[in-house]
Parts: sequence; structure tokens; C-alpha cells
Amino acid sequence: MAVMPSPPGSFKQSWLERCRQCSRCGLSAERQHVVISRGDPSAKVMVIGEAPGASEDIQGLPFVGRSGQLLDQLLRTVGFNPDSDLFICNVVKCRPPNNRKPSSAELRACRPWIEEQLAHVDPLVVVLVGATAVAAMLKRKQAMRSLRGVWIEQAGRLWMPVFHPAYLLRNPSREPGKPVAMTLEDLRQVRLRLCQCEPASGALFPCPPPP
Ligand code: SF4
Repeated sequence: MAVMPSPPGSFKQSWLERCRQCSRCGLSAERQHVVISRGDPSAKVMVIGEAPGASEDIQGLPFVGRSGQLLDQLLRTVGFNPDSDLFICNVVKCRPPNNRKPSSAELRACRPWIEEQLAHVDPLVVVLVGATAVAAMLKRKQAMRSLRGVWIEQAGRLWMPVFHPAYLLRNPSREPGKPVAMTLEDLRQVRLRLCQCEPASGALFPCPPPP
């Protein structure tokens, strides 16, 4: 039977299969799925969160539970299409029991997968969702209140830390100055960085809708 060619930018089937069968750490014991990614592997923006939760473990896709739905809503508000403009994944690919934070050993074990995803997608901008993702990718352990909304240039890339949507669900006010409004500002900064307002970007997107 003829093998269908993969879409441009796709990960090789052999890589995906190795990742799906990974048992480098104990999280492999209870997972339903290795949650690898969603979105476009040739996207210019990569979104990296912490680890899958219950819905993600069941569906095998990152950020599809209540937190993910809120994140998608905020991304759409600033003009991103999460399916075609972004590549979305986590620093740890299997669900930690009871949604606990991944341990240092689990983060270390899973590190090669996110490194390979980052190298393959090679995005212009990386959005880091929550403190665990920032600490894992950049070795920075400050409070998110001081990290969020400030561009970081490190390791030859441009990073934007934002609050985790689970935190936003616990703080749902949409008033100016509250975490949801701050996150919209941060995501709008990302969008602006890649549109015609920023000549160096090569105008990858139309300008974002006004706030
Ligand atoms: S969390 Fe990462 S390292 Fe651990 S089993 Fe899953 S894919 Fe492998």
C-alpha cells in the first residue's frame, strides 16, 4: 500500500511512535495517553505548559479541559487560531496522578522530548504557560507576577511567560488589572510582535483586534 506523505513540518511517524511508547519515568504506569501536542508543527508560535490533566489524558491532546478552553478563548480574542497559528504542548507528556506538579526527576526524564519538539518547530516566539514551564525551560524560579508580560531573550529564543489558565479559572474577574486582563495584554504583545506593527517580524499575521 502507498504511504501517504506527511504534511509539511510534521514529526516523523517513528519519532511519534517512540514518544507514545516512552517509559522513561514512572508516569508511564498510570497514563491513558502520552499527550504529545496539538496545532501546527510549522507554527511560528509555540505554547508550552506544565503537564496533562484528566481531560488531556483521556483525549490524548494538551489543553483541552476547562483550562485549555479558557486559553483557546484568550488566544482567539487576540486574533490567534489555536489550530493553525500555534503549536501547543507541555514540558511533561504524561499525567501526574491527582494533577500534582511533576517531580524534578520526571521533568528531567521528559526533557529530551520537549527539546526535540522545540528544535523541530523552531518557533520565533515561545509562550510559557505557568511557573513550572518557566522554571523547566529557563531555570527561572521567580513568582509569575514578576515574570509574566516581560519578554525574555535566552538560549537564542524569545520567550513570553503568562499565567496558567488554571490560575485564571480561580481568579475569573475580567476587570482591568486582574490576571485575565493581564494575560490578554501578554498574549496581545505576542501577537503584536508577529504582525505588521513590528517590521522585523516580516508581518506573519494581521494586526490584533483592538482591546
Ligand atoms: S512523562 Fe515523559 S518521560 Fe515520563 S513516561 Fe511520559 S513521555 Fe516518558
